[in-house]
Amino acid sequence: MTFYLSGFRSIPKLWKSNPYFELGPATSSASFFFCVIGNQQRWLSVKATTPPNGKALNLLVTKARTHKKGNNNNEQVSSDPHYFAAGAAKKRSHIGANPQDQGHALPVRSSVQLPTKPLNSKEWDKLKEDFKGKASFEDFIISQMTRNCSSVDVAKSLLAWVAAKNNGIVGYNLLVKYLYLCVFHKQTSEVIDVYEIMKAKYKSLESGGYTLLIRGLIHSDRWRESLLLLEDVKKVMVPSKKNYGDCIQGALLHQDVNTAWSLYQELVGHNLVPPLETLKAFFDYGKDINDDHYSDKLLDILLYLRNNQLYPGESFAHSIKMWFESIPGRQWKGQFTTIQKSGQCSGCGRTIESIHLSPEEYEFLKEKIMRDVIDGGDQYKKTTPQELKRFESFVNSCPPFDIVIDGLNVAKMFSKGRESQNLLGVVSQLAQQNLQLLVLGRKHMLRPSSLWRKDEMEQVRKQAHCFFADNISEDDPFLLYATLNSGNHCKFITKDLLRDHKACLPDARTQRLFFKWQQGHQLAIMKGFQKSKLTFQHTLSYDTVVQTTGDSWHIPYDEDLVQRSSCEVPTKWLCLQRKTPGPC
Ligand SMILES: [Zn+2]
Repeated sequence: MTFYLSGFRSIPKLWKSNPYFELGPATSSASFFFCVIGNQQRWLSVKATTPPNGKALNLLVTKARTHKKGNNNNEQVSSDPHYFAAGAAKKRSHIGANPQDQGHALPVRSSVQLPTKPLNSKEWDKLKEDFKGKASFEDFIISQMTRNCSSVDVAKSLLAWVAAKNNGIVGYNLLVKYLYLCVFHKQTSEVIDVYEIMKAKYKSLESGGYTLLIRGLIHSDRWRESLLLLEDVKKVMVPSKKNYGDCIQGALLHQDVNTAWSLYQELVGHNLVPPLETLKAFFDYGKDINDDHYSDKLLDILLYLRNNQLYPGESFAHSIKMWFESIPGRQWKGQFTTIQKSGQCSGCGRTIESIHLSPEEYEFLKEKIMRDVIDGGDQYKKTTPQELKRFESFVNSCPPFDIVIDGLNVAKMFSKGRESQNLLGVVSQLAQQNLQLLVLGRKHMLRPSSLWRKDEMEQVRKQAHCFFADNISEDDPFLLYATLNSGNHCKFITKDLLRDHKACLPDARTQRLFFKWQQGHQLAIMKGFQKSKLTFQHTLSYDTVVQTTGDSWHIPYDEDLVQRSSCEVPTKWLCLQRKTPGPC
């Protein structure tokens, strides 16, 4: 089956009113005439009709969304290797999962069975009769098809049936989802047909259409036209990292290395984070070429991973290993391994970089965060400047603390027991070790209640310095300020992972230092402490980051089957060593 073009009239600047496809439904009003003559299905014309269904435009948005597991702050800590280990948050969230919540994710059931082979008109009519949903049948069925990645032929039979019923008109919703299926199944000739229709019809497209066309075209002989589409996107907005990534892959597929690198430069120049699959493509391509210049660029990519705290996936790690081992004459040998608690690589025995910040790094981070906390902008609007001033003078009147405790958080950490009792338990155990403690709390904790007993709170105040903020205040700024102000030895206890705060930090370096500092300074209480002595999960002694000594590389990577949350680090490593030439 082939699509033919004929008799298009132009509709100027079709989606121009809304170039930002991802941000909301577009206001397009185009439809294609689709004509069925016998077995031949032909595109005949395009004319303005009703606006397309916004759902179509959400397709990519839905696709792009990653499924994120929420964390339950109140659940018990499991006995994972360390707090920041990949997958630990997921396990924690399972432990605390509420069975009542489970029903929410059930998909909407429908009596309609998605066809697995092309249907004729009568069969489509019959299927529509069975459909009981509120939405339009056509929209529903094409959405199901994209979700289930139905075959292009089945989708095409749907379009033919719709066209036959609507004087040859096929709505935009159906068309763009059809394009999606063509791209998904790498049906390049179909992609090119739809591309021709769009090119003939529209001066410009919205970014969702461009994204699909670029992705579809890079596998064809006409891949260079994807670069032209990219130029079109640039006229209205910065292309997405996906758009750049696809064009780079297209260039590498067709051995145009210079184009690939210059697109890469452009991508990074826009402060976009390149997709890992794009970086992997450079390594895969690198195996076949022996060129120092190219090698240097690959090493730059590894340093980029380091500086941006990025970790390759499992297959990317394999690509890196294979590339190193393919370098002629250098004798690199790679192995997949883990790091011991002491910070030694189990593969080669070298010591991994310490988690501890150097004095310079510490000062830099402290300076940045203090300035944020004290002079901070909007991110701290839940705390008044007056209160921060009050806190600042309080902190300066105390000796440096050893441990700063998020009182409310610690009190709620255990499912059993009164809150004040839990807090007192933790404080007493730490006070016995002669540690200078700071408990951060809220004023409501001082108001006697069934959860907060006066005598227990008085005991807390005897054993620790306490600061009670207004009930509306956020804890993070106080916690960070007090801990950093006390010095590099000071640790803090909270189950909170301070993610919001990290996101507010001004640049990648500060964020990276903050994450490193957090890993080395945040204490997590092991569960079951009420029955036994208070124990903490061990904090990492080494820094999980891409690193090199010149003749070795250590590269943490994400395993395919482990879901790592953004506040965790991988536990698997690629260890690369250059074999020193033995005596011969
Ligand atoms: Zn090693």
